Amino acid sequence: MDFTDTPEEAAYREKARAWLIANAPKQGLKPGRDHDGSDLAEARAWQTKKAAAGYAQITWPKEWGGPGGTPIQSVIYAQEEAKFAVNSGYFLIGLGMCIPTVMAFADEETKKRFVGPALRGEEIWCQLFSEPSGGSDAAAARTRAVRDGDEWVINGQKIWTSGAHLSDYGILLARTDIDVPKHKGMTMFWIDMRSPGVEIRPIHQMSGASGFNEVFFTDMRIKDSQRLGPVGDGWKVAIVTLMNERLSVGDIRGLDPAQFLRLAREVTIGGESAARNHAFREKIADWYVQFEGLKHTRMRTITSLSRGQTPGPENSIGKVVAANVAQEMAREAMEMLDQFGIINDPSLAPLAAGFQNQVLATPGNRIAGGTDEIMRNIIAERVLGLPGDVRLDKDVAFKDIPSWR
Ligand SMILES: Cc1cc2nc3c(=O)[nH]c(=O)nc-3n(C[C@H](O)[C@H](O)[C@H](O)COP(=O)(O)OP(=O)(O)OC[C@H]3O[C@@H](n4cnc5c(N)ncnc54)[C@H](O)[C@@H]3O)c2cc1C
Repeated sequence: MDFTDTPEEAAYREKARAWLIANAPKQGLKPGRDHDGSDLAEARAWQTKKAAAGYAQITWPKEWGGPGGTPIQSVIYAQEEAKFAVNSGYFLIGLGMCIPTVMAFADEETKKRFVGPALRGEEIWCQLFSEPSGGSDAAAARTRAVRDGDEWVINGQKIWTSGAHLSDYGILLARTDIDVPKHKGMTMFWIDMRSPGVEIRPIHQMSGASGFNEVFFTDMRIKDSQRLGPVGDGWKVAIVTLMNERLSVGDIRGLDPAQFLRLAREVTIGGESAARNHAFREKIADWYVQFEGLKHTRMRTITSLSRGQTPGPENSIGKVVAANVAQEMAREAMEMLDQFGIINDPSLAPLAAGFQNQVLATPGNRIAGGTDEIMRNIIAERVLGLPGDVRLDKDVAFKDIPSWR
């Protein structure tokens, strides 16, 4: 594929850039912040503005409030928006994962109720999959949903639920049948996070923020009409969510080698600019190469999307490389800054303490949306065709898995 903009794409980029210059806040939202809610009002205002101008969820069809644009336009807009200090992070899980799942599996009335408010940033969603019994193995979920007439009664616990404390709604993967193998006995629901029987407890992170939570369910009652997909088909529904998740987390976010170089030019080591230091120069060159590789891998995904195909497992490569490079860059930046690396006040530190934030955030990025090991398993099995992981409990009734008893 040709990586330069076609005349139409160049025109779209120009239009998007002009709109951003006229409308995006020049400052206020800082990079790399945990979503602690302090900037939520600003983020909502930005999302509403974006949606009105047709720049939110660019590939969504007009009937659902999107402009019906192409995947390439969506990438062009994201590239341009990344140059501004705006924050769409609160809405990523809802718009990138939950609402596409609602769109694929809910009835028309439910879709009409939820799609617009999520698009405009009026309502926030969270994804309730991981449990203490398993995150990598989402099919190990033990949270029970027991049918009672036209209702389901939910009991159990989720963990690592990003943004649950700020969310209005969530999608919940629950076990509805323990007599069948684990992948076959789950069902997906949407839930109101303010329902009686839901308790949200924040988890304190090393950055000082609390972006994710434990969520406990005690006899929470939901209507059968809140079911997404058939009873027992929750795994298939979850796969749709997870495919969307991996698409969005494979993006290159955070600081890049050019910003590292900028920092290196500002720092002096042994009387000369760090940008002249051989060890750092080699690192910067390595990262440039890896970023180019990521860009082209991402382009393969976009090419398959623009041809109407489902992106393949190659996106797992993007996720594992992006998270590792980001962590290595942050670590090296701290090395370079020496004791000044502990200054994380954005108004005092270079690049608004972006690398300090990246040091604290990147371990989580290597876990969220699939750990390095899980991504490598996917690459090994589905890209390289190597023998599969050993899965002893795959065909066993859930109630007979020793950890359940
Ligand atoms: C920042 C952040 C945000 C998150 N947000 C959400 C959210 O909003 N909603 C949600 O549901 N979850 C969320 N999670 C949870 C995330 O999906 C899980 O943490 C992740 O899937 C890993 O699961 P786990 O923590 O249970 O680790 P485990 O699955 O217990 O893994 C522990 C270790 O064992 C390794 N391992 C596990 N299985 C294998 C295997 N088969 N082969 C080789 N190695 C293996 C893992 O790589 C890891 O190193 C979030 C996590 C983070 C860090």
